[in-house]
Order: sequence, then structure tokens, then C-alpha cells
Amino acid sequence: MDLQPSTMQPPGRPALKEWRFEVAGVEDVTPRLRRIAFGGDLAGFEHTPGQDMVLMIDTGEGPGRRHYTIRRVEAGRVVIDFVMHGHGGPAERWAADAKSGDALTALGPRGRTLVLRPEADWHLFTGDETCLPGIAAVIETLPAGVRVFAFIEVEDKDDRQEIAGAASLDLQWIVRGGPAVPSSPALIERLALFAPPPGRGHCYIVGETSTVQQQRRGLIARGMDKARISAEGYWRPGRKGGHDHIRDPE
Ligand SMILES: Cc1cc2nc3c(=O)[nH]c(=O)nc-3n(C[C@H](O)[C@H](O)[C@H](O)COP(=O)(O)OP(=O)(O)OC[C@H]3O[C@@H](n4cnc5c(N)ncnc54)[C@H](O)[C@@H]3O)c2cc1C
Repeated sequence: MDLQPSTMQPPGRPALKEWRFEVAGVEDVTPRLRRIAFGGDLAGFEHTPGQDMVLMIDTGEGPGRRHYTIRRVEAGRVVIDFVMHGHGGPAERWAADAKSGDALTALGPRGRTLVLRPEADWHLFTGDETCLPGIAAVIETLPAGVRVFAFIEVEDKDDRQEIAGAASLDLQWIVRGGPAVPSSPALIERLALFAPPPGRGHCYIVGETSTVQQQRRGLIARGMDKARISAEGYWRPGRKGGHDHIRDPE
């Protein structure tokens, strides 16, 4: 597997649209998830569920790029859920201190890893709490009859939340009982037990990079066509911001 940490827009892609996001509301949804609603001049803001924004956060050494998923857009506000991961990262600190009127620059929307592949007969999502906003955003918009499986890992049972919507959802929470770790055994082992239903499925595998790599490898070893796996590393120990593309070795 080749990891490609990426903090910049790939060459050849159009520049991301720039917005001024202004904090309009702050709420703790669960003990480690802080929801911030952003207002501002959002005329023309459009996104597809599962897309994210690049938030420009002051790192103390200049602005740093941090990806955050659009949980929803409602009443003219862009809602984003920040995981309080406990490592004191600049984005985590910014969210912890956020109050009405605070502003930042946001670039996007961008990304398609979690964006639904409508041609699939069933869909499987796996991820940790950083992926919960995106997974929930996609599932909640699906019509009745769509078959969805989701394995979502959280620290504690209080970190679970309801995911609404009309889809036929088979959701399993995996409670770690401690802080997030790389190569999460709980998630990897749960996925290994997944028995794919008949038909052509699509798997959306996101979260800590080495956990994602191992899940993807496991699915391929069990015969899943790699074209039907979308995978992205949302964080990994030591990395500051950015995201990891997950590819096979050349
Ligand atoms: C496409 C995409 C969408 C994302 N959506 C969301 C989202 O909706 N909500 C959300 O909370 N996060 C989301 N993330 C993850 C988020 O961007 C990272 O967790 C980011 O590193 C947080 O920035 P920071 O400034 O707090 O920490 P950084 O400065 O980036 O990192 C500081 C230290 O903290 C560690 N760290 C960072 N995040 C975590 C974590 N989750 N668990 C344990 N250790 C961590 C790093 O490895 C590093 O050692 C997304 C990432 C991607 C790529």
C-alpha cells in the first residue's frame, strides 16, 4: 500500500471555493463530539452528502488545513461535528474554545470517498468517531429500500447517537472502551466477520489510516473487487491535518 499524505489540492483540480464561516451555535452532542453551526454569507453553498470542507486553522505556526465533514446544511447554516480526540490538536482546541461570532476560512466542499455510489445493490460503511458525521449524513439521505450496513467504532457507549432515515440500516456500534488506537483490532475483526449479501455492493472504509489499510486488504483477500472499495485515511498518529490516499504499491 502506498500512503500519500496530502494537504494540498492535487494539481489539475480546480481551486476550492473559499468561504468565511462564522460560528452561530455550539452544542455538545455527545461527551466527545462538539457540534458547531456556521453561518455567514453562504449564498450558493451546495454540497453532496459525505463531502467535507478544508478548515484553515491557526496552528501557531501559520494556517493549517484540517478536513471536516459537512454533517448537514440546515436553515442557512453549515453544521460540522468536531471530535474531541484528546491530543490537543489546533482544530480540536479551536472547536473547544469556539463561541458565537468566531470566524475562519473554509475551502470546499470537496471529496467523494463517502459519496454514495447509487448503482450498488448494498452499501457498507466502516469508521470511527471522525467518520460518524459523514456516515450519518449519507445514510440519513437515503430513500427507503436501500440496504446499508455500518460498523462505527466509538470510545464509550455514550458516544453513540441515533442515525435516522428511511434506509434499511443494519448498524453496529463497536465500543472500544478507551481512546482511539491505530490498527483498531475491534473494527478489523468485526469487518472480517461481515458476510456480504448477494448482489454488487460498495464498501466505504474510512478512519485511522492503518485501520483502513488493513480492512481494505481484508476485503480484497476475501474477493471484493477493489473498484468497489472507497477508502481514505482520516487521521494517523503524528500526522497533522491532511488525508491519506490509500492505494496499492506500484
Ligand atoms: C475527509 C476527512 C473528513 C473528516 N471529517 C471529520 C469530522 O467530520 N469530524 C472530525 O472530528 N474529524 C474529521 N476528520 C479528521 C480530522 O481532520 C483529524 O482528526 C485532524 O487531524 C484533526 O486536527 P487537529 O488539529 O485536532 O489535530 P492535528 O494537528 O491534525 O493532530 C495532532 C495530533 O493528534 C492526533 N490526532 C488527530 N486526530 C485524531 C483522532 N481523531 N484520534 C486520535 N488522535 C488524533 C494526530 O495524529 C496528531 O498526533 C476528517 C478527516 C478527513 C481526511
